[in-house]
Amino acid sequence: MRTRHENGAHYGAYAPLGYRKDPEQVGHLLVDEETKWIIEKIFALAVQGAGAAKITHILASEQIPTPSWLNFQRYGTFAHVYEGQPEGKRYEWTIAQVKKILQDENYIGNSVHNKQTNVSFKSKKKIRKPKSEWWKVEGTHEAIISKADFDRVQEQIASRRRKQKDGTTQIFAGLVKCADCGWSLAFGTNQRKKAPYSYYHCSKNGQGLRQCSMHYIRYDVLYGFVLSRLQYWITAVHQDEQAILDRLSKSTMTEQAAASKRAAQEKRRAEKRLTELDNLLAKIYEDRINEKITERNFSMLSQKYQQEQEELEKKIEALTAQLASTKEQEDGINKWVELIKQFSSPTELTADMLNTLIEKILVHEATKDEDGNRVQEIEIIYRFVGKID
Ligand SMILES: [Zn+2]
Repeated sequence: MRTRHENGAHYGAYAPLGYRKDPEQVGHLLVDEETKWIIEKIFALAVQGAGAAKITHILASEQIPTPSWLNFQRYGTFAHVYEGQPEGKRYEWTIAQVKKILQDENYIGNSVHNKQTNVSFKSKKKIRKPKSEWWKVEGTHEAIISKADFDRVQEQIASRRRKQKDGTTQIFAGLVKCADCGWSLAFGTNQRKKAPYSYYHCSKNGQGLRQCSMHYIRYDVLYGFVLSRLQYWITAVHQDEQAILDRLSKSTMTEQAAASKRAAQEKRRAEKRLTELDNLLAKIYEDRINEKITERNFSMLSQKYQQEQEELEKKIEALTAQLASTKEQEDGINKWVELIKQFSSPTELTADMLNTLIEKILVHEATKDEDGNRVQEIEIIYRFVGKID
């Protein structure tokens, strides 16, 4: 077996996602232009600081097809998994799948072998071999991901593991972002001081990238601020739910109401014009039959009307989607208030509370006010209702 693998050939049943088997050279992988973007997207999210759980969630919510669905579409395999199943099955990514992709050296052009072995000759069951027994052939095929990005992701995975071993609960994981570049803030602990403290800083600024700026914030400052805002909203909802519902719909709806009124009017106009065009087309068709207009004019007019119809149909579709999303936002307020009611007078933050109520937290760069005090804006974007302070 070993000699067969010495040249780094790939003998799996399927090429890894993002690649396809070279029809002209057994065991050689070619970049698959149709699916390469999925791998690029997964790594881009990871480089920006998202963990495997978060990436899995994004892939499913953006309806990115899974490797086995793609194989089913191409080769008809896994039919038993997909036949008669709801469409959602196609986007059911697992955290394990994402983790495996993030650590797969195939994506930097290397082949790794001897990862698993059969338990015995009789058993088909495979077991994973220790990493020390693997061997690797570099540069066997074209890379999809740069070595620098790949290494960075490996470092992030390792650092997540280290943190978990430290017992640090990373309650803000995946939620705190730089307000300027949108990247996740990286977590750090200052160990050298007698009283160690933790802090966040923009991950685009760290790791030798030196892009963006620090966006430094101490963990306890962030914690205190977020806790006070959640205490405020939770108490307010428990005191007078209706008042909060009214207040939120007033503040978020005034602008939206005007926008959806405009959208609804525009949609009605477009639909009216569409009916007119139907009539116009019928009319010129009749005129042509009765030879009231020439063939040349007929084809010119019908082409013109049909083009306008197509444009209107597209426009109506977009407006309908816009109106539906407004409706969704109205429902969002009720949803959020329902969620908030599960909690009562919290004295500390939990990951569950944060992830239930908050979409993301944007940390701005600190500035100095005229008295030389450090001021820093923190924006909390709540789930379903957005920014509501
Ligand atoms: Zn930044």
